[in-house]
Amino acid sequence: MNPLATAGDSEFRFAAENTLGKLVRWLRLLGFDTLYLARPDPEGLLRMCGNGRLVLTRTRRVAARLPAGRALLIKPDAPRQQVRQVVRQLGLSRARVRLFSRCLQCNTLVVPIERGSVLGRVPDYVWHSQAAFATCPDCGRIYWPGSHLRHSQEIMETFFAP
Ligand SMILES: [Zn+2]
Repeated sequence: MNPLATAGDSEFRFAAENTLGKLVRWLRLLGFDTLYLARPDPEGLLRMCGNGRLVLTRTRRVAARLPAGRALLIKPDAPRQQVRQVVRQLGLSRARVRLFSRCLQCNTLVVPIERGSVLGRVPDYVWHSQAAFATCPDCGRIYWPGSHLRHSQEIMETFFAP
């Protein structure tokens, strides 16, 4: 049995080292709780494991120092291939994806916000063309599905394609 799969049906939570910025962005976009470690130190990484996070690293040495099954060594260079590795190796299912449910900047779950209250805070054409908005309670960024939703969905399909 793959030791990385012992989380069973529970949610996977990640902590990624600083070389994996684009992977972090993608995992957040898919809705997975993913911390970005700007300055990963051995103790910090261990703490992440203790908190139930799976550490994503590109360094074999780092992975080897962490408890068995608590680190995933990311091999591809291309970010989309990195996402594909995580999806495949952990057996993440498409059903777990919550596209655009998290702030890409700070990992916080976004919340719906009244359309009227974002008038003047987003470009006019966006306000006129979009029906629903969400905001990050931490940084205040405003999100809307927009045209990038379909684009992201198309890319997402490639992650889960056999
Ligand atoms: Zn935010």
